[in-house]
Amino acid sequence: MQATIRDYESVLRDKTDVQKMYINGDWIESSSKKTREILNPANNEVIATVTQADSSEVDFAVQSAKAAFYKNGWNTTYARTRADLLLKVADKLEERKEEFAMLETLNNGKIYEDSMVDIEDAINQFQYYAGLATKPHGQTYEVPDEIQAMVVREPMGVAALIAPWNYPLVMATQKMSAALAAGCTVVVKPDKQTPLTLIRLFEVIDEVGFPKGVANLVLGTGSIIGDTLVNHPDVDKVSFTGSTDTGKHIMKNAADTVKNISLELGGKSPNIVFADADFDTAVDYALLGIFAGTGQICSAGSRLILESSLYEQFVEELIARAKKIKIGPGWDENTEMGPLISKDHMNRVLDYIRIGKAEGAELLCGGKQVVDGDLAQGNYVEPTIFSHTTPEMRIVQEEIFGPVLVIQVFDTEEEAIELANGTDYGLAAAVFTNDGAKAQRVIRKLQAGITWINTYHPTFNEAPWSGYKQSGFGGGDLGTYGFEEYLYKKQVNTALEVKPSGFYKG
Ligand code: NAD
Repeated sequence: MQATIRDYESVLRDKTDVQKMYINGDWIESSSKKTREILNPANNEVIATVTQADSSEVDFAVQSAKAAFYKNGWNTTYARTRADLLLKVADKLEERKEEFAMLETLNNGKIYEDSMVDIEDAINQFQYYAGLATKPHGQTYEVPDEIQAMVVREPMGVAALIAPWNYPLVMATQKMSAALAAGCTVVVKPDKQTPLTLIRLFEVIDEVGFPKGVANLVLGTGSIIGDTLVNHPDVDKVSFTGSTDTGKHIMKNAADTVKNISLELGGKSPNIVFADADFDTAVDYALLGIFAGTGQICSAGSRLILESSLYEQFVEELIARAKKIKIGPGWDENTEMGPLISKDHMNRVLDYIRIGKAEGAELLCGGKQVVDGDLAQGNYVEPTIFSHTTPEMRIVQEEIFGPVLVIQVFDTEEEAIELANGTDYGLAAAVFTNDGAKAQRVIRKLQAGITWINTYHPTFNEAPWSGYKQSGFGGGDLGTYGFEEYLYKKQVNTALEVKPSGFYKG
């Protein structure tokens, strides 16, 4: 089929102009003049240059957010005022969604359709939390004394929001929209490789008229910005999405200030297929579970847990279809799987493939970098499937974060559950079966925060997203739980009759 190449150059700015951070209502370049070139993962060409903060700029962003919250009154703005601003952001994003989607594709590598889903999700997050801001949030209690007991919710203060590169915009907006709606002020930090859509989002933030200091964007490395934010005594809340290793580091850093943290971390999610499942559906979602987003999805179905009686037929079909997946740049309409984020990450994935072979797993398909024609310039790896694995193997236990599926085989329901729960992670899980009772029974025994029956991947802004075990903790992002993450609960007890207690007799 003839490839249809969408126009993509038009969304880029002059590559030599330094794109800035947004702090205290101004666009700011780092005083150190440090910059970073941003690469397109499809061909490793430079697409932008951005400034890189040092810790003094991070401190400036935190001080601005603190002043906006306490001195300039964002903490006592009417919820309706906050909601109006969030709705304006949603409207402006809607007007520019094609531009944002293409920019996300150029910066992250994901296929354009997936980028568009992300942008639409981001728009919906601003709408959802605008709606929630004005809904009742307090509670009153019936208590034994002559007391009116109630709980009011109050914004925590300055929230540091740290996002990963695999969903550069939408992981940040799910935190930002909830935090701003709750009445917090924010300092947002994208990954160093993928800042472009967030920089443009802050153009929108600027345009719609948020008071200065309410929303700030800092750009640079995790080691400088992340550590400064998490250690900062004036940061009241940290919401982090990223790897489990960085999450552990953040927990240690946060201990000194007993900081309120939420962690959304990595995964090694099981996808259990029973022999009585609908065959075509299960094969289709086994592919989508791992190869969507080139496997760079926290909840990717990276372990296929297959009933042994189905093995031969299922694996034959899986390999045949995996080999047909069309690999290419995300702006090409025919592409079904894009590149990995960087050369370094591609080499890490290829290392895992070498490890899998050395551990004795059988490579059924893929396993190599794609070097056909122009693709050689990008970070492409073939859809890869391993069988004959054992639970101890590193490729079974560790998050590879690439297009690599490992197959584990079971004979009984108990064995399937044991294999599924047999890693340190607990983010997502799926079960494919036509037996409704079995599906429910198994799902209830899986240690995972997000689960699916006879499907894989659908998620919604309305429902919370959070993991079990080393996949993170906190109430999770999204939904009403995501909103609660930015609110203290304050107990207010009022005497119904104003009189002394009578306890002291003298
Ligand atoms: P990462 O942990 O390397 O980086 C995530 C973010 O943390 C980046 O912005 C990075 O700059 C920052 N960071 C790095 N060092 C830091 C420090 N010392 N202090 C504070 N922040 C620091 O993760 P990544 O490679 O960007 O993203 C991939 C990982 O994210 C995978 O493990 C994936 O499973 C996970 N992830 C989880 C979810 C979820 O919802 N559970 C969603 C998306 C991605």
